[in-house]
Amino acid sequence: MENRTYSEEEYLQIAEIQHFAFCPRQWALDYLEGQWQENVLTIEGHALHDKAHDPMSREKRKGKIIVRGMRVFSASLGISGDCDIVELHEKKDGVFIPAFNGTYEVIPIEYKRGRPKEGEEDVLQLKLQALCLEEMFCTTIPYGYIYYGETRRRQETVFSEQQRETIIELLKQMRQYIQRGYTPKVRRRKGCRKCSLQDVCIPKLKPDTSVQAYLEKRLVE
Ligand code: SF4
Repeated sequence: MENRTYSEEEYLQIAEIQHFAFCPRQWALDYLEGQWQENVLTIEGHALHDKAHDPMSREKRKGKIIVRGMRVFSASLGISGDCDIVELHEKKDGVFIPAFNGTYEVIPIEYKRGRPKEGEEDVLQLKLQALCLEEMFCTTIPYGYIYYGETRRRQETVFSEQQRETIIELLKQMRQYIQRGYTPKVRRRKGCRKCSLQDVCIPKLKPDTSVQAYLEKRLVE
């Protein structure tokens, strides 16, 4: 991993990794060109997230503390964002957390509206949360959960070194695109059907047409 510090402007959001892993063009349209558009799926997703977040609330249950909307960051990766839920389970050989005056196992939980996906994007987002939490609490986090609204189940996700390497590579690629101000070309995929950006992405047009050029042309017409 690159051993460097990141300026405030260079920080990326945790949620970006999910978009980029799904489709680099979708990520660029949203984060580089500001073209994000809501569709019914993204609106439902926000509603589920808002329910999970309830900004930085804490709830104590037997043997565990549930923290919603925890702000997390990693200085070594240049990343910040929120965790939907972090569960702190009391554990004798866990990490000492002064704010909660005890030793705990730290478990991130992410909420998604749909069902488990074919791609790794949700897992990478959760793993990135775990990397932030590991750095903040000086601990190791071997697993987390993703709760899927459609199946109403939470799925255990065991973390791996491979996921960490993939994340580091994807963050590097994202920063290269940002530096070049370059939006990747259309590469149609199964997910295009449900993509909230399909109208601005225009996958039916020539693959080398940039959105900006298309919109400018339409304005002139
Ligand atoms: S429509 Fe397809 S290619 Fe275009 S941004 Fe969405 S997922 Fe990516």
